[in-house]
Amino acid sequence: MTAIVPQDAATTAKAETAAGTRNSELVAAATRARQKAYAPYSLYTVGAALRSTDGRIFIGCNVENAAFSATNCAERTAFFTAIAEGVRDFEAIAVVGAPAGASPGTRLSCSPCGVCRQVMAEFCDPDHFTVLLARSLETPEDHQAFFLRELLPQAFAGEATRELER
Ligand SMILES: [Zn+2]
Repeated sequence: MTAIVPQDAATTAKAETAAGTRNSELVAAATRARQKAYAPYSLYTVGAALRSTDGRIFIGCNVENAAFSATNCAERTAFFTAIAEGVRDFEAIAVVGAPAGASPGTRLSCSPCGVCRQVMAEFCDPDHFTVLLARSLETPEDHQAFFLRELLPQAFAGEATRELER
């Protein structure tokens, strides 16, 4: 039987503030990563910062190519870097995207593409993994948070490929 522990409002508020600070730091890391983007064709630069459950941060930027299909998004760059480092447990990713040269006051709306959402679904718990979308280049506290399941409901999952084994 689980003991019922009364909620301490001050402790709860402090924890929420700490989580908010951690998320804002992740958005700030994504904003810095955006400066590394290689986007000579779209002129739309994106940075991502992926936090693993052990607290490490892996950054990514979009890397375009003259043969467009060879382009890689910032989110997948961050994921593949982490996977190559042997890390497979993640809790959140921040995404910051805007036209190159956008002024700091520009309002942002950059959401992961479908391919990147599918890559997230491969490694992350859809009910806990959080996607943070920046709404400002200068204020990392100004962001939206979504659980992966909200962004990719009914995802194609690895279990489907193993159905015949049962
Ligand atoms: Zn993408």
